[in-house]
Amino acid sequence: MFKYDVAIVGGGLAGLTAANFLVKEGKKVVVLEKSNRLGGRAMTNDKNGILMNLGTHGLYLSGETMTILTELGLSIPGGNASKSVQIHGILNKSVQVIPTDFSSIMSSSLLSWKSKFVFGKLMLNLMKLNVDSIPEVSLTEWADAEISDPMVRHIFYSICRLTTYTNAPTLQLAKPVLKQVQRSLKGGVLYVDGGWGTIVEKLRQQAIAAGVEIFPSKNVVKIEHYGDYQSILCSDGTVFNVTDCIVAAPPKEAVKMIKDAEHTSLGLWNKQAIPITASCIDLGLKKLPTSRHQFAIGLDQSLFFVYGTLEM
Ligand SMILES: Cc1cc2nc3c(=O)[nH]c(=O)nc-3n(C[C@H](O)[C@H](O)[C@H](O)COP(=O)(O)OP(=O)(O)OC[C@H]3O[C@@H](n4cnc5c(N)ncnc54)[C@H](O)[C@@H]3O)c2cc1C
Repeated sequence: MFKYDVAIVGGGLAGLTAANFLVKEGKKVVVLEKSNRLGGRAMTNDKNGILMNLGTHGLYLSGETMTILTELGLSIPGGNASKSVQIHGILNKSVQVIPTDFSSIMSSSLLSWKSKFVFGKLMLNLMKLNVDSIPEVSLTEWADAEISDPMVRHIFYSICRLTTYTNAPTLQLAKPVLKQVQRSLKGGVLYVDGGWGTIVEKLRQQAIAAGVEIFPSKNVVKIEHYGDYQSILCSDGTVFNVTDCIVAAPPKEAVKMIKDAEHTSLGLWNKQAIPITASCIDLGLKKLPTSRHQFAIGLDQSLFFVYGTLEM
């Protein structure tokens, strides 16, 4: 007999999405977010009129996020970057077009005639590959067995780094990486008008309209389980007693708030999770020095330059 059935800890994409689904099922839901803003890693910051995504940039049109947003009835405005932008590769300080379709494969100066054929075949195979049938091997093991041409391998790895934001081919399993590569090849990537803040705001508005209560600046410090209810304590002393609780915060945070969590699968997940370290510099430019170079990735190193414009 509590005011809320479910408390969701964390007002990022996962928390707000869960809130929307639960309220549709008739649950009374409260979202508790530690920051004074919603969105987590999907926030967009407005720097003098230039919108900068804190984390998330591309929405994979054939990915699960898009499926979920569509299921919630949200339409997301934006432009399909894959259709309008040429991808460039940086190799030995020179910038060259990365082939992505038949004509760019033919005109590419990165690849010899033999490599063009090998690359074209690899792209076709990746499109129709049954990813679920791939055994539990690392990306390196898969690439070693499937790709012998050194330049084709360079391009393949750079596409894998780009689509997963990760540079750990010996640790990553081939299956999820290839699934992500397939998503980008098949559906393309949408760059959201107004940044990912647009999606966060749409999720927030829909949740509130359906009756979800959202509290920013609520730092959850302890979650205790008492038989048929959970007691959630915030750093300001507020307590929420609810039937169920969903923690939509990263494992490092989650393990701290849940009593004895270090002995559970969450504790194990927290121990095994390897944080990704990346340096990101956002620059607001009035125009690009070379307007053709809107999108460039390192072929022999882990670099990713992307340019977004309101007109795109
Ligand atoms: C640089 C970068 C680029 C990315 N690019 C892409 C991309 O192009 N495409 C894509 O699909 N994904 C991308 N991602 C991944 C995407 O940003 C994340 O998967 C997604 O935003 C995670 O959402 P979440 O809700 O699970 O977690 P988070 O966004 O981390 O949300 C967790 C929330 O919990 C809150 N919280 C934590 N502790 C507490 C507490 N004690 N009490 C209350 N609240 C708490 C946090 O403040 C936060 O708001 C990128 C990520 C990064 C970092």
